[in-house]
Amino acid sequence: MTASRILRPQGAGRFVLLCDHASNYIPAELHDLGLPASELARHIAWDIGAAGVTEALSEIFDAPAILCETSRLVIDCNRHLDAADLIPEVSHGTVIPGNLHLDKAARADRIERWFHPYHDAVESVLLEREARGAPSIAVSIHSMTPSLAGQPRPWQIALSSHLDRSLADAVLAALRRPGDIAVGDNQPYDLDPEMDFSIPFHALRRRLPHLQVEFRQDEIPDAATQRRWALRFAQALR
Ligand SMILES: [Zn+2]
Repeated sequence: MTASRILRPQGAGRFVLLCDHASNYIPAELHDLGLPASELARHIAWDIGAAGVTEALSEIFDAPAILCETSRLVIDCNRHLDAADLIPEVSHGTVIPGNLHLDKAARADRIERWFHPYHDAVESVLLEREARGAPSIAVSIHSMTPSLAGQPRPWQIALSSHLDRSLADAVLAALRRPGDIAVGDNQPYDLDPEMDFSIPFHALRRRLPHLQVEFRQDEIPDAATQRRWALRFAQALR
């Protein structure tokens, strides 16, 4: 298993898609981090449905897509290397036995094997595009749970932005225009350069136009719904 999967690296579209939490894969030597399969199927291990939406968008736009192939319980590729929850000991109330009391060497090993290769793959795509003068718009694709701590989330899709709202504002307006869906604007999450890593590191640093989006997981349970939401989002991106 490699740390990342790249679709359409030479894609002609302007969008470059990132999916940090695409997979719930745990390398065999980590013995499921001591968790039962039921926990690994939950959102704590991955962004349910996000990979399917990313694949569909990659196809729609002929866009390069880089998908992280390791569970965020192994290492969260959207966290800074010094973040307390980079390798979470507890996630949404679930203790992760395989992450308790990791020594320095074990942490370094996870970073070398699963964090850097994913971000290096993103860099390689962006650098290659820069080299040939192709403009890039970075889009980071996540999914959110239908509720948090017993509170239902009304938004079917949500954009997370920081200081540069130019693209977010236009896409928000386009998503809302038909008036048929609830769209979150920095709800439930904003884009936080102190907490998020992927968009700040790959896009803000380069001043690339960017978006971070959350699809609600109950809206994207299968390939058909993932494609439908990808088409809706793609329409707004245009
Ligand atoms: Zn995510």
